[in-house]
Amino acid sequence: MKTLLSTSTAGSLPKPEWLAEPETLWSPWKLEGEQLIAGKQDALRVALQEQQLAGTDIVSDGEQTRQHFVTTFIEHLNGVDFENRKTVKIRDRYDASVPVVVSAVSRQKPVFVDDAKFLRQQTKQPIKWALPGPMTMVDTLYDDHYQSREKLAWEFAKILNQEAKELEAAGVDIIQFDEPAFNVFFDEVNDWGIACLERAIEGLKCETAVHICYGYGIKANTDWKQTLGSEWRQYEEIFPKLQASNINIISLECHNSRVPMELIELVRGKKVMVGAIDVATDSIESPEDVATTLREALKYVDADKLYPCTNCGMAPLSREIARAKLQALSAGAEIVRKELSQ
Ligand SMILES: [Zn+2]
Repeated sequence: MKTLLSTSTAGSLPKPEWLAEPETLWSPWKLEGEQLIAGKQDALRVALQEQQLAGTDIVSDGEQTRQHFVTTFIEHLNGVDFENRKTVKIRDRYDASVPVVVSAVSRQKPVFVDDAKFLRQQTKQPIKWALPGPMTMVDTLYDDHYQSREKLAWEFAKILNQEAKELEAAGVDIIQFDEPAFNVFFDEVNDWGIACLERAIEGLKCETAVHICYGYGIKANTDWKQTLGSEWRQYEEIFPKLQASNINIISLECHNSRVPMELIELVRGKKVMVGAIDVATDSIESPEDVATTLREALKYVDADKLYPCTNCGMAPLSREIARAKLQALSAGAEIVRKELSQ
């Protein structure tokens, strides 16, 4: 029987410090060659066990095999030059040195499919796999070839669809596309962003999700949040079209955010992964904090469609804190599950 209020994480978990520098994004690997491959698999096993011990219902690889949620995927594509980088402003927020699209993009070979097969072998629990969304990929590059964000996103959507179909065949239950850029470029989201997302999930029979957050708990993001005012209504711009889309699940940042919870009413009918854990603070939520957020969300999401989750990935946190937050998520979900069964 499917568990009511099945818990999961948005994606990344901290890596062990023998694999990569802890509490850092884009952290370089500490191993090489065969040792690195074995090290990544060991880290995946540890990340899975951490989730299982914490009682997480839908598990993931904790993104142990990738350096970054967007660039690691792009590194495996043809048509992108990683040597001669350019500096661009990501999500209108912070400068980053990024690779350049120099010719037609295509996928050389499957990117994460072997990792997904490995995870599938380790557990019978439902598994979720995250891929970058087409718009967020475009926003993490300099485009010297297509010279159109929409055209490049459409090409990425076709490539993501190839990868997603192979992940599905490998036994992945939920394929999630990370689209933090959806919170910034509303006109583009409505013009072509959601259409590209639907191209990426075309023909899939497994469940599909889109994760839209306010970013990792890094300084550029927390500074940006300070400028957003007392109510964050970004979701309002894109929810009507998302509600009408084919995507099954929408993953959102809710806990400690200034997003008015009633905006979730706009996607009524969709499954919602409700972020009930703040990833931008080291303070650990109590189970009751989590339960409070979930109860509030239940006003706008039917119980059988509510999936307690984290606001975003936990890669930049310490392992101890991430572990405690996972436990709080499970304990908070259990409080509300009991209330619902009364
Ligand atoms: Zn996120």
